[in-house]
Amino acid sequence: PVDSRPLKRHTSDVGVVVEHYNSRPDVGVVQRLESPIIGLKNFNNWVKSVLITRFGHPALAKSAVTGPPGSRMRIARGKVLDLGCGKGGDMTKWSKANVKELFGADIAEVSITQARNRWEGLRGARFDATFAALDCYTQPVSKAFPPAKLAQPFDVVSMQFCMHYAFETLQKARCMLDNVSRYLRPGGVFIGTIPNADLLMENLDNIPPNAEELSFGNSVYRITFENREHPVFGQKYWFFLQDAVENVPEYVVRWDNFVQMASEYGLSPIYKEEFHQVFEEHQEHPEFKPLLERMKVVDSDGASAMDEDQWEAANIYIAFAFEKR
Ligand code: SAM
Repeated sequence: PVDSRPLKRHTSDVGVVVEHYNSRPDVGVVQRLESPIIGLKNFNNWVKSVLITRFGHPALAKSAVTGPPGSRMRIARGKVLDLGCGKGGDMTKWSKANVKELFGADIAEVSITQARNRWEGLRGARFDATFAALDCYTQPVSKAFPPAKLAQPFDVVSMQFCMHYAFETLQKARCMLDNVSRYLRPGGVFIGTIPNADLLMENLDNIPPNAEELSFGNSVYRITFENREHPVFGQKYWFFLQDAVENVPEYVVRWDNFVQMASEYGLSPIYKEEFHQVFEEHQEHPEFKPLLERMKVVDSDGASAMDEDQWEAANIYIAFAFEKR
């Protein structure tokens, strides 16, 4: 059974989030293999790889493309800002995408140290990286990185599994979008992954009136709402994901509201799909199909590493991409 009670009483939700992520150990590859939801973790990583390869690649900068068509994706090198980068779990993906400079910011200082160590430990890392602790939803990116480092704009901004924490208030969402957009070049891309508001709201509305808890989920995950209201900001729920997230407070991101706000920051949507759909679209792709096996989402016979509950949990999320006008 899943314990869905809020963890501890804290003065602020941000405190709960920081403490949670600061206290999660960097378990390393071997112990990670023992996770009961390793299939789901691998699948989430595969989705991020698809997103980074398809949209988060500076080859989109036409001026930077110098090689013959077939080799374009591997030639252009770009500058990436990873907000809410955590322990730097996407570093290898960026390395494979041929990044030139990676900037990572996260509110959890322990994670930032781990990210920096990970980069330093990458044998033959062919890109520069700078990591800084920053509350990206109340402070400007310029507080973390010196002006000289920001003089040349970013080709890509990435926010993976973290943007929803900003939708506690309008001010935080605005600060987040300003940080995304301010140093992103025209034609640059903003990619991310967030929980699917439509799915969350539908499940909330389907909870019977006499239910003890405003909660839904399965053996792998549980989402517990604070109340039945549907405010545009600050619609709070606690998220539990086995072996990953322990009842951390999060906020619903209404897609239409997000798109409308993003447009005020010069960002137009170019992609939005549920994770199941990302799988459907790319499972036969010549590059992403073999990656499914390499990333151990499926075994050599094509059998999934996820059980049904993990597969259901996977579809809580959507992947998106925006382009800067
Ligand atoms: N992006 C990483 C990944 O995909 O592996 C980490 C995702 S983790 C689920 C969410 C991250 O969001 C945590 O590292 C957390 O510290 C970060 N975060 C939450 N609130 C933040 C804030 N206000 N500013 C910066 N980072 C924040």
